Amino acid sequence: MSAPATDARTAHADGVERLLESYRAVPAAASVRLAKRTSNLFRSRAATDAPGLDTSGLTHVIAVDPGARTADVAGMCTYDDLVAATLPHGLAPLVVPQLKTITLGGAVTGLGIESTSFRNGLPHESVLEIDVLTGAGEIITASPIEHAELFRAFPNSYGTLGYAVRLRIELEPVEPFVALTHLRFHALTDLIEAMERIIETGRLDGVAVDSLDGVVFSAEESYLCVGTQTAASGPVSDYTRQQIFYRSIQHDDGAKHDRLTMHDYLWRWDADWFWCSQAFGAQHPLIRRFWPRRYRRSRSYSTLMRLERRFDLGDRLEKLKGRPARERVIQDVEVPIGRTVGFLEWFLANVPIEPIWLCPLRLRGDRGWPLYPIRPQQTYVNIGFWSTVPVGGSEGETNRSIERAVSEFDGHKSLYSDSYYSREEFEELYGGEAYRAVKRRYDPDSRLLDLYAKAVQRR
Ligand SMILES: Cc1cc2nc3c(=O)[nH]c(=O)nc-3n(C[C@H](O)[C@H](O)[C@H](O)COP(=O)(O)OP(=O)(O)OC[C@H]3O[C@@H](n4cnc5c(N)ncnc54)[C@H](O)[C@@H]3O)c2cc1C
Repeated sequence: MSAPATDARTAHADGVERLLESYRAVPAAASVRLAKRTSNLFRSRAATDAPGLDTSGLTHVIAVDPGARTADVAGMCTYDDLVAATLPHGLAPLVVPQLKTITLGGAVTGLGIESTSFRNGLPHESVLEIDVLTGAGEIITASPIEHAELFRAFPNSYGTLGYAVRLRIELEPVEPFVALTHLRFHALTDLIEAMERIIETGRLDGVAVDSLDGVVFSAEESYLCVGTQTAASGPVSDYTRQQIFYRSIQHDDGAKHDRLTMHDYLWRWDADWFWCSQAFGAQHPLIRRFWPRRYRRSRSYSTLMRLERRFDLGDRLEKLKGRPARERVIQDVEVPIGRTVGFLEWFLANVPIEPIWLCPLRLRGDRGWPLYPIRPQQTYVNIGFWSTVPVGGSEGETNRSIERAVSEFDGHKSLYSDSYYSREEFEELYGGEAYRAVKRRYDPDSRLLDLYAKAVQRR
């Protein structure tokens, strides 16, 4: 491991001790929560006076081992800090979620995804071991061998089985630049066919493909963004200035080319929170000019969004304009690639939201993960949509219809945002008895919330 690993390990041990002290300070009858400075959870939560655990000493990279291509990372370390520590070694995590404030522990317990997921799977599939603070108040190391049932149930458990305080992850070598080809499609079937071809061959026009995602603006205008890493230097684009990444990919026909540094490629979606910065005027050329560059990042927009929701500004504004309040529809769902065109057609006909993000994924290993049972050897497409629609006749009408459609199209929905499933449906979709068995063993006194209570009942 690289110096100054010893100091970092001591600091980490102090951080774990502070976490444990704060855990012990919570009365035995009370449930516990993490006190984190950032979050990418988008479901509303009931107000709580549950004490927050001290995570302040668990936000750093402990050590990078360039020889073994691994990193030891504290559970609440953001990918921003993680990538900053690995890139100087020419290494990166196998999957780097797009938003800088997503933490490694959050992406493993809450599922993450990115454009390398078609070849590298999901972030938890490159975790070698995890130190977990369990509901029983112990720190244990879970791996494919030790406490294996906890290790396998951890992904998609959202902190309800324990908190990751340290994770050892694999890293992969990366080149300093990414050459991008944006392919334009006029029909969704053509886009999905091209996506399948690239995944099957790992190539586009004979050139190796390292990363793949896409954007749908409408049924007639969609794109695949195909990335190939390269050491060849040359001019690069910078989308933290006046230009906006998602606008840069649009063109009339054929292919458009671009180049980014690896660092800027990894954070290409962060500067405008994909496209969601539009809601705050940050894409208007004049406002953008005066919007400080250091605040062009997802963290600023999510802070603004939380303020907006706290004071209910959006709905008040709609009311002043004589329009109905709006329902938040912020979701990522996974649909088998063979059903993706059908789902997108349903979505475009029923939900007035665009653009839509597409990201293919295949589990890296041969085994499934009980709490998010997507099938090995099957390509899925993650479909992300993050906006609002006019409220319908019942609470969560659009979100509920999306849940039904996801099931009809044989898909799965991630749980970071609003969910409306009945307990029976939820048990069937998210691990049921397998979850309960691990919960009984590692959180015997229910100090941590139950997954259904957290994900659906918004506790
Ligand atoms: C608009 C939007 C777009 C998104 N897009 C993407 C995307 O493109 N790619 C992607 O990968 N993900 C995406 N996500 C989902 C995101 O990865 C998950 O929400 C993830 O769980 C967030 O991690 P976080 O570190 O911010 O955790 P938080 O939001 O702080 O917490 C999420 C949950 O995980 C628990 N938790 C946090 N840290 C730990 C830990 N160390 N151990 C155990 N439990 C813990 C918390 O208790 C909480 O229940 C998106 C989310 C949003 C809102």
